[in-house]
Amino acid sequence: RSVPSDSMACGLKMPEIKFTKLFINGSFVDAVSGNNNNNIPSIFFWKTFATTDPRSGEVITMVAEGEKDDVDLAVKAAREAFDHGQWPRMSGFQRGQIMIKFADLIDQHIEELATLDSLEVGKLFSHNKLADIPSATRMLRYFAGAADKIHGETLKMGGPFHGYTLKEPIGVVGHIIPWNFPTVMFFFKVSPALAAGCTMVVKPAEQSSLSALYYAFLAKQAGIPDGVLNVVTGFGPTAGAAIASHMDINQVSFTGSTEVGRLIMEAAARSNLKPVSLELGGKSPLIIFDDADINMAVKLAQRAVFYNKACKLLFPILVDKEQFEKVLRYIEHGKREGATIVAGGKPCGENGYYIEPTIFVDVKEDMVIAKEEIFGPVMSLMKFKTMEEAIERANNTRYGLAAGVVTKNLDIANRMARSIHAGSIWINCYSAFDSDCPFGGFKMSGFGKDLGMHSIEKYLQVKSVVTRLHDSPW
Ligand code: ADP
Repeated sequence: RSVPSDSMACGLKMPEIKFTKLFINGSFVDAVSGNNNNNIPSIFFWKTFATTDPRSGEVITMVAEGEKDDVDLAVKAAREAFDHGQWPRMSGFQRGQIMIKFADLIDQHIEELATLDSLEVGKLFSHNKLADIPSATRMLRYFAGAADKIHGETLKMGGPFHGYTLKEPIGVVGHIIPWNFPTVMFFFKVSPALAAGCTMVVKPAEQSSLSALYYAFLAKQAGIPDGVLNVVTGFGPTAGAAIASHMDINQVSFTGSTEVGRLIMEAAARSNLKPVSLELGGKSPLIIFDDADINMAVKLAQRAVFYNKACKLLFPILVDKEQFEKVLRYIEHGKREGATIVAGGKPCGENGYYIEPTIFVDVKEDMVIAKEEIFGPVMSLMKFKTMEEAIERANNTRYGLAAGVVTKNLDIANRMARSIHAGSIWINCYSAFDSDCPFGGFKMSGFGKDLGMHSIEKYLQVKSVVTRLHDSPW
């Protein structure tokens, strides 16, 4: 089995994979799903699946395959912890203290954690250690600080009444997350939900289960009570779908594809009408005006499309065969539709899912590569003449996740910021994230925010309390 190339350079050893079972009610347990035959010892029926290294296609280890029955057990534990446990009842300050300890423990295990995400999704060890994991611990500390600042309002009522609102944790929440940022996505969802006082079931992507299990272990070490944070590893149509349609889950937060987002919303509507928040696909333009600092524009364009793809001699990697083949199909489509490749366009190497950074020119607005999210290292270049044209084209998509604008002209920057229908506008920067900066799409990129104080709201519900005032003038 190979060790992430840059971790080898740092002299790190391949980590022992410590946690591969489901984390339910504070313990690591095998999957019960699929174990229907009472005559045969259950040891033969623990369902597992292989997690693979995208750099070689080799199996790293087997991971417990949770399904509906396992989700039921996790929800039961989370329900008990919510209805009778300490977590929602302790003060926000106390929750915050435990969350800070959780962040401290992550700092202490950062090398092992960074290696796990490298192994499973091929991300650079150094990115994990220096960017992703520190940003995750910042989120934990940010929301730890927010936990004791959640409060309602006093209402001015038009009658002899005293009215106020309480913000209460919404209950048991489900988090379904993708593979592209396993650690960051975990804490996008878990940190505000913990601060709010919710209990939860997390389903990591099947491609990236290992760090989530490790975080669950550290959460327990930090003092997060059993049942508050459960992790069920497994596949989307089984474990994920069981979360979306569960009658005893009160909210679901999802990040992933638009197609699956739709399934989750349908399942939520068909089951118990739980609110959902969806962070879905995007087709985010980077609009470069002719006054732009061209060096900056080139750097941002590179960051916008080729960032987060670990490189082997600068060849980006895809997480698995399915993603790899999907991106190659898009490249073929672009060629067939008449766009011209000026760089890349081919897979690279004999092992691993590497694709050359690919740049298309002569791209027309109605081409598939201009409209659909490719989720791979493929850039499409298009020209425009006026600001109006740029605005119209930027908005001519069913998505609205983000957009970048590169210009030195303040009027252009302001006008673009107000005219583009997208949840994040980055001016002379791209993918600029911060714990305090809400992130989430418009239109078919979904709704509901991660990060920032807004994100706590989806894990809270507002209760109005009204008391009649006797003997009081209005
Ligand atoms: P991607 O294309 O990035 O893999 P997906 O939307 O397929 O995005 O997956 C994101 C997450 O959603 C993963 O954890 C995956 O297992 C889960 N998922 C996939 N299908 C379903 C489904 N039908 N119901 C619930 N979750 C699902």
